[in-house]
Amino acid sequence: MTDRKDELAANLAKVEDRIAAACAAAGRAREEVTLIVVTKTYPASDVRMLAELGVRHVAENRDQDAAPKAAECSDLPLAWHFVGQLQTNKVRSVVGYADLVQSVDRSKLVTALSKEAVRQGREVGCLVQVALDAGASGRGERGGVAPGGIEELAGLVAKAPGLRLDGLMTVAPLSGEYAGRQQAAFERLMDLSTDLRRAHPAANMVSAGMSADLEEAVAAGATHVRVGTAVLGVRPGLG
Ligand SMILES: *Cc1c(COP(=O)(O)O)cnc(C)c1O
Repeated sequence: MTDRKDELAANLAKVEDRIAAACAAAGRAREEVTLIVVTKTYPASDVRMLAELGVRHVAENRDQDAAPKAAECSDLPLAWHFVGQLQTNKVRSVVGYADLVQSVDRSKLVTALSKEAVRQGREVGCLVQVALDAGASGRGERGGVAPGGIEELAGLVAKAPGLRLDGLMTVAPLSGEYAGRQQAAFERLMDLSTDLRRAHPAANMVSAGMSADLEEAVAAGATHVRVGTAVLGVRPGLG
């Protein structure tokens, strides 16, 4: 193996140990949690090595970075998740490679994703991104809809041709009542998921937890964790 592949393998093993330990501590089966590796800012060659090491889910947050990488890796057995704030003018490109969009946070985006999914003959899984720090505006600093907006948005996704409502996603807030209280934030997301599943039983994905707080997410009941830095290393600059 190359040095880089050795490094990725060692990091993946450490993350796998952390997830397994968190599952054991929570009395959950390891299979209940899916690892999504966030490959943003890292090259397609890293994505290829990760696939060779058994990774099956990758995530990206900027279309400019993701589109060429996904094209270069189109032969790999990977599910691509889009997790960044998404402008409607990028929807055509994103629908071309994304299997799931985890950052659905407004009705205009639902309309655009649906239209494009139908046009391209694709089905796109959607998670409603929840902002637990949403102010009076009803929107979060880093995207997301306030808890009060979930039901309406989920209903729109569920009815939209070409889209599939898969569940909820959040990023632990840096401000507001949940700042520094990751586990409480993720438990709140789980409660919101329970509410959502009353109307939409199949929408059972709960995407929460990153490199620094995956244990709290697993403890709260997350089904998907999104891990970047702990697998690939600290990102240089933006991202
Ligand atoms: C970058 C990113 C992650 C991964 O963060 P790390 O701290 O590098 O693990 C997870 N979720 C989203 C939405 C991201 O943008």
